[in-house]
Amino acid sequence: MRRIAITSTLRELGRGFVRLLYPGLCSVCQCPLPPEQDRFCPSCRSALTNDPFSSCPRCAATIGPFALASLKDGCTRCAGLPFRFERALRLGPYEGLLRDVILRLKHLNADGLAELMGELWAETLQTKLREVRADVVVPVPLHWRRRLERGYNQSLSLARGLAGRLALPIRPSWLRRIRHTPMQTEQTPSARQANVRGAFQATRKVSRGACVLLVDDVMTSSATVNAAAAALRGAGADRVVVAVLARAKG
Ligand SMILES: [Zn+2]
Ligand SMILES: [Zn+2]
Repeated sequence: MRRIAITSTLRELGRGFVRLLYPGLCSVCQCPLPPEQDRFCPSCRSALTNDPFSSCPRCAATIGPFALASLKDGCTRCAGLPFRFERALRLGPYEGLLRDVILRLKHLNADGLAELMGELWAETLQTKLREVRADVVVPVPLHWRRRLERGYNQSLSLARGLAGRLALPIRPSWLRRIRHTPMQTEQTPSARQANVRGAFQATRKVSRGACVLLVDDVMTSSATVNAAAAALRGAGADRVVVAVLARAKG
């Protein structure tokens, strides 16, 4: 008994020593993490998870501080636009540290960081995301050519982290991108709509009546997620709710 107690005390001491020598590092700024913190330091965590603005309950765009009460059918940006998705939720605006992290996910093969961001997102918006009552999580797919250039699909890795924390199944095979489209940010809104029309195809695996949580990294206009939602609805999905890590002004 005594020997076991001594061994476990030694093991604990050993672990403490290792932590002193190699403290965990913040996944974003690489600073040593204070004890009790994991994955993100308090300052990065707070910058990534505190959305400083109100957002439109329909399209997730930033709105003025007093606009929320008067919004019935969407904000000035989305009212009148026919959406094939029910609404969009965001972690935050496409600004500051959240924007920096997303650019890092796009330009480096940052699979691990994307998955951690998905987990942080689910932990932060847990109540809102559970209220959706989604049956499955589907990431917005990349065209195979872009996936080859980038090495991975950041939306799939985000969705994996998010779905894991929400204990929901993930179904990347439900949606395919069948057209290679130019970057959305370089186009006018009407060109964006035309550009992505028919860009997605749902496979025959979509369960009839399912509620899908459609995950993407950035939403600039509603064009891309709307085209993806249209494909899923056309294949039998009952409801599609969009979850984006960040909403750009677009
Ligand atoms: Zn940090
Ligand atoms: Zn709106």
